Amino acid sequence: DDLTARSLLSGQAPEGWLDPDALDGLLRHFGIPLVQTIGVADADAAAEASAALGGPVVLKAVGPVHKSDVGGVRVGLTTPEETRAAFAAMRESIGAEMTGAVVQPMVEQGTEIIVGGVNYPAFGPLVMVGMGGVTADLLADRAFRVPPFSADTAEAMIRELRSHPLLYGYRGRPPADARALADVITKVGRLMDALPEVAELDLNPVIVTPGGAVAVDARIRLA
Ligand code: ADP
Ligand code: MG
Repeated sequence: DDLTARSLLSGQAPEGWLDPDALDGLLRHFGIPLVQTIGVADADAAAEASAALGGPVVLKAVGPVHKSDVGGVRVGLTTPEETRAAFAAMRESIGAEMTGAVVQPMVEQGTEIIVGGVNYPAFGPLVMVGMGGVTADLLADRAFRVPPFSADTAEAMIRELRSHPLLYGYRGRPPADARALADVITKVGRLMDALPEVAELDLNPVIVTPGGAVAVDARIRLA
Protein backbone atom coordinates (compact mmCIF):
# COMPACT_ATOMS: atom_id res chain seq x y z
CA ASP A 1 0.00 0.00 0.00
CA ASP A 2 0.95 3.68 -0.15
CA LEU A 3 2.04 3.67 3.50
CA THR A 4 4.59 0.93 2.81
CA ALA A 5 5.74 2.79 -0.30
CA ARG A 6 6.25 5.94 1.75
CA SER A 7 8.14 4.03 4.45
CA LEU A 8 10.61 2.96 1.74
CA LEU A 9 11.44 6.66 1.41
CA SER A 10 12.06 7.22 5.12
CA GLY A 11 15.75 7.90 5.69
CA GLN A 12 16.06 9.49 2.25
CA ALA A 13 16.88 13.16 1.96
CA PRO A 14 13.55 14.97 1.34
CA GLU A 15 14.90 16.46 -1.87
CA GLY A 16 17.22 15.15 -4.57
CA TRP A 17 17.93 11.92 -6.45
CA LEU A 18 17.15 8.64 -4.67
CA ASP A 19 20.09 6.39 -3.88
CA PRO A 20 20.22 3.07 -5.79
CA ASP A 21 18.83 0.88 -2.96
CA ALA A 22 15.83 3.12 -2.29
CA LEU A 23 15.21 3.42 -6.02
CA ASP A 24 15.30 -0.35 -6.41
CA GLY A 25 12.98 -0.88 -3.44
CA LEU A 26 10.44 1.65 -4.65
CA LEU A 27 10.31 0.31 -8.21
CA ARG A 28 10.01 -3.23 -6.85
CA HIS A 29 7.15 -2.19 -4.55
CA PHE A 30 5.16 -0.97 -7.55
CA GLY A 31 6.15 -3.99 -9.69
CA ILE A 32 8.15 -1.88 -12.15
CA PRO A 33 10.83 -4.18 -13.64
CA LEU A 34 14.42 -2.95 -13.42
CA VAL A 35 17.22 -5.19 -14.71
CA GLN A 36 19.37 -6.69 -11.94
CA THR A 37 21.84 -3.96 -10.94
CA ILE A 38 24.90 -4.70 -8.79
CA GLY A 39 26.73 -1.74 -7.25
CA VAL A 40 30.54 -2.01 -7.37
CA ALA A 41 33.21 0.26 -5.83
CA ASP A 42 36.32 -0.90 -7.67
CA ALA A 43 37.66 -2.99 -10.56
CA ASP A 44 37.90 -6.19 -8.47
CA ALA A 45 34.27 -5.93 -7.39
CA ALA A 46 33.28 -5.27 -11.01
CA ALA A 47 35.06 -8.47 -12.10
CA GLU A 48 33.39 -10.41 -9.28
CA ALA A 49 29.91 -9.16 -10.21
CA SER A 50 30.60 -10.04 -13.83
CA ALA A 51 31.63 -13.58 -12.82
CA ALA A 52 28.56 -13.96 -10.61
CA LEU A 53 26.20 -12.91 -13.43
CA GLY A 54 27.90 -15.30 -15.85
CA GLY A 55 26.85 -14.05 -19.29
CA PRO A 56 27.71 -10.82 -21.10
CA VAL A 57 27.33 -7.73 -18.90
CA VAL A 58 27.09 -3.96 -19.03
CA LEU A 59 29.29 -1.69 -16.89
CA LYS A 60 28.02 1.82 -16.09
CA ALA A 61 29.71 4.63 -14.21
CA VAL A 62 27.85 6.06 -11.22
CA GLY A 63 28.21 9.81 -10.80
CA PRO A 64 28.02 11.41 -14.25
CA VAL A 65 24.49 12.50 -15.24
CA HIS A 66 24.80 11.51 -18.91
CA LYS A 67 26.90 8.38 -18.59
CA SER A 68 27.20 7.49 -22.26
CA ASP A 69 28.30 11.05 -23.17
CA VAL A 70 31.47 10.60 -21.09
CA GLY A 71 32.26 7.00 -22.01
CA GLY A 72 30.55 5.73 -18.86
CA VAL A 73 28.58 2.88 -20.47
CA ARG A 74 30.28 -0.26 -21.84
CA VAL A 75 27.98 -2.95 -23.21
CA GLY A 76 28.73 -6.55 -24.20
CA LEU A 77 31.58 -7.31 -21.77
CA THR A 78 31.97 -11.07 -21.98
CA THR A 79 34.53 -11.99 -19.29
CA PRO A 80 35.31 -10.83 -15.73
CA GLU A 81 38.76 -9.70 -16.98
CA GLU A 82 37.18 -7.56 -19.66
CA THR A 83 34.89 -6.01 -17.04
CA ARG A 84 37.81 -5.35 -14.70
CA ALA A 85 39.75 -3.60 -17.50
CA ALA A 86 36.68 -1.60 -18.53
CA PHE A 87 36.25 -0.33 -14.94
CA ALA A 88 39.89 0.78 -14.80
CA ALA A 89 39.67 2.52 -18.19
CA MET A 90 36.44 4.27 -17.19
CA ARG A 91 37.89 5.55 -13.93
CA GLU A 92 40.96 6.76 -15.82
CA SER A 93 38.98 8.69 -18.44
CA ILE A 94 36.13 10.04 -16.26
CA GLY A 95 38.14 10.81 -13.12
CA ALA A 96 36.79 11.78 -9.70
CA GLU A 97 33.27 12.46 -11.00
CA MET A 98 32.93 8.64 -11.14
CA THR A 99 32.03 7.56 -7.60
CA GLY A 100 31.60 3.87 -8.47
CA ALA A 101 29.80 1.77 -11.04
CA VAL A 102 27.06 -0.79 -11.55
CA VAL A 103 27.14 -4.11 -13.38
CA GLN A 104 24.02 -5.42 -15.14
CA PRO A 105 23.32 -8.46 -17.32
CA MET A 106 22.94 -7.61 -21.04
CA VAL A 107 19.29 -7.43 -22.08
CA GLU A 108 18.58 -8.76 -25.59
CA GLN A 109 18.12 -6.19 -28.39
CA GLY A 110 14.71 -4.59 -28.54
CA THR A 111 12.86 -1.31 -29.05
CA GLU A 112 13.98 1.38 -26.61
CA ILE A 113 11.16 3.37 -25.03
CA ILE A 114 11.26 6.26 -22.57
CA VAL A 115 8.72 6.26 -19.72
CA GLY A 116 8.67 9.31 -17.49
CA GLY A 117 6.68 10.96 -14.77
CA VAL A 118 6.65 14.53 -13.48
CA ASN A 119 4.75 16.18 -10.68
CA TYR A 120 4.45 19.95 -10.80
CA PRO A 121 3.02 21.20 -7.47
CA ALA A 122 0.44 23.43 -9.13
CA PHE A 123 -0.61 20.84 -11.70
CA GLY A 124 -0.27 17.32 -10.28
CA PRO A 125 1.22 14.14 -11.74
CA LEU A 126 1.69 13.48 -15.44
CA VAL A 127 3.02 10.36 -17.18
CA MET A 128 4.86 10.44 -20.50
CA VAL A 129 5.78 7.69 -22.93
CA GLY A 130 8.10 8.33 -25.85
CA MET A 131 10.13 6.51 -28.44
CA GLY A 132 13.79 6.31 -27.40
CA GLY A 133 16.85 6.87 -29.55
CA VAL A 134 18.18 9.81 -31.52
CA THR A 135 15.56 9.91 -34.28
CA ALA A 136 12.72 9.89 -31.78
CA ASP A 137 14.41 12.78 -29.95
CA LEU A 138 14.31 14.80 -33.14
CA LEU A 139 10.65 13.92 -33.74
CA ALA A 140 9.62 14.47 -30.07
CA ASP A 141 7.37 11.43 -30.48
CA ARG A 142 5.51 11.39 -27.13
CA ALA A 143 2.14 10.81 -25.46
CA PHE A 144 0.91 12.05 -22.08
CA ARG A 145 -1.81 11.10 -19.55
CA VAL A 146 -2.80 12.15 -16.04
CA PRO A 147 -2.54 9.10 -13.71
CA PRO A 148 -3.93 6.83 -12.48
CA PHE A 149 -5.13 5.04 -15.63
CA SER A 150 -5.76 1.50 -16.88
CA ALA A 151 -3.49 -0.71 -19.00
CA ASP A 152 -5.89 -0.11 -21.93
CA THR A 153 -5.26 3.62 -21.62
CA ALA A 154 -1.52 2.94 -21.48
CA GLU A 155 -1.82 0.91 -24.67
CA ALA A 156 -3.72 3.80 -26.28
CA MET A 157 -0.77 6.06 -25.34
CA ILE A 158 1.60 3.65 -27.09
CA ARG A 159 -0.56 3.70 -30.23
CA GLU A 160 -0.52 7.51 -30.24
CA LEU A 161 3.22 7.44 -30.96
CA ARG A 162 3.82 8.03 -34.67
CA SER A 163 6.57 5.41 -34.58
CA HIS A 164 4.47 2.81 -32.70
CA PRO A 165 4.53 0.38 -35.69
CA LEU A 166 8.15 -0.31 -34.64
CA LEU A 167 6.67 -2.19 -31.68
CA TYR A 168 4.00 -4.08 -33.61
CA GLY A 169 6.04 -6.04 -36.14
CA TYR A 170 7.10 -3.33 -38.61
CA ARG A 171 8.67 -4.74 -41.80
CA GLY A 172 9.04 -8.28 -40.60
CA ARG A 173 10.45 -7.44 -37.15
CA PRO A 174 9.15 -9.79 -34.47
CA PRO A 175 6.33 -7.94 -32.62
CA ALA A 176 7.42 -6.65 -29.20
CA ASP A 177 5.43 -7.30 -26.03
CA ALA A 178 3.44 -4.04 -26.10
CA ARG A 179 1.19 -5.28 -23.29
CA ALA A 180 4.22 -5.66 -21.00
CA LEU A 181 5.18 -2.07 -21.86
CA ALA A 182 1.60 -0.93 -21.16
CA ASP A 183 1.86 -2.66 -17.77
CA VAL A 184 5.06 -0.72 -16.95
CA ILE A 185 3.42 2.59 -17.95
CA THR A 186 0.34 1.79 -15.83
CA LYS A 187 2.50 1.03 -12.80
CA VAL A 188 4.49 4.23 -13.24
CA GLY A 189 1.10 5.97 -13.23
CA ARG A 190 0.22 4.29 -9.92
CA LEU A 191 3.53 5.34 -8.37
CA MET A 192 3.19 8.96 -9.52
CA ASP A 193 -0.40 9.07 -8.25
CA ALA A 194 0.48 7.52 -4.86
CA LEU A 195 3.60 9.57 -4.12
CA PRO A 196 3.31 13.29 -4.86
CA GLU A 197 6.77 13.76 -3.29
CA VAL A 198 8.20 12.13 -6.44
CA ALA A 199 8.93 15.21 -8.55
CA GLU A 200 10.50 13.36 -11.44
CA LEU A 201 10.86 9.74 -12.58
CA ASP A 202 12.79 8.54 -15.62
CA LEU A 203 12.99 5.07 -17.11
CA ASN A 204 15.30 5.70 -20.05
CA PRO A 205 15.28 3.30 -21.67
CA VAL A 206 12.77 0.52 -21.12
CA ILE A 207 13.87 -2.21 -23.56
CA VAL A 208 10.84 -3.93 -25.11
CA THR A 209 11.35 -7.33 -26.75
CA PRO A 210 8.98 -10.10 -27.86
CA GLY A 211 9.52 -11.60 -24.39
CA GLY A 212 8.75 -8.58 -22.18
CA ALA A 213 9.75 -5.08 -21.08
CA VAL A 214 12.49 -4.12 -18.62
CA ALA A 215 14.06 -0.80 -17.58
CA VAL A 216 17.87 -0.72 -17.75
CA ASP A 217 18.30 2.88 -16.53
CA ALA A 218 16.14 4.51 -13.86
CA ARG A 219 16.18 7.57 -11.64
CA ILE A 220 13.76 9.26 -9.27
CA ARG A 221 13.97 12.76 -7.81
CA LEU A 222 12.12 13.78 -4.66
CA ALA A 223 11.03 17.34 -3.95
P1 ADP B 1 22.78 6.87 -20.31
O1 ADP B 1 21.35 7.24 -20.04
O2 ADP B 1 23.69 7.56 -19.38
O3 ADP B 1 23.15 7.04 -21.72
P2 ADP B 1 21.94 4.07 -20.13
O4 ADP B 1 22.01 3.28 -18.89
O5 ADP B 1 20.60 4.58 -20.54
O6 ADP B 1 22.97 5.30 -20.00
O7 ADP B 1 22.56 3.21 -21.30
C1 ADP B 1 22.74 3.72 -22.62
C2 ADP B 1 22.38 2.67 -23.65
O8 ADP B 1 23.11 1.47 -23.43
C3 ADP B 1 20.91 2.22 -23.60
O9 ADP B 1 20.09 3.07 -24.34
C4 ADP B 1 20.99 0.82 -24.19
O10 ADP B 1 21.03 0.89 -25.61
C5 ADP B 1 22.32 0.32 -23.71
N1 ADP B 1 22.16 -0.47 -22.46
C6 ADP B 1 22.25 0.01 -21.20
N2 ADP B 1 22.06 -0.97 -20.28
C7 ADP B 1 21.83 -2.10 -20.98
C8 ADP B 1 21.57 -3.47 -20.61
N3 ADP B 1 21.52 -3.88 -19.33
N4 ADP B 1 21.38 -4.37 -21.61
C9 ADP B 1 21.46 -3.98 -22.92
N5 ADP B 1 21.71 -2.72 -23.32
C10 ADP B 1 21.90 -1.78 -22.38
MG1 MG C 1 19.63 6.35 -19.96
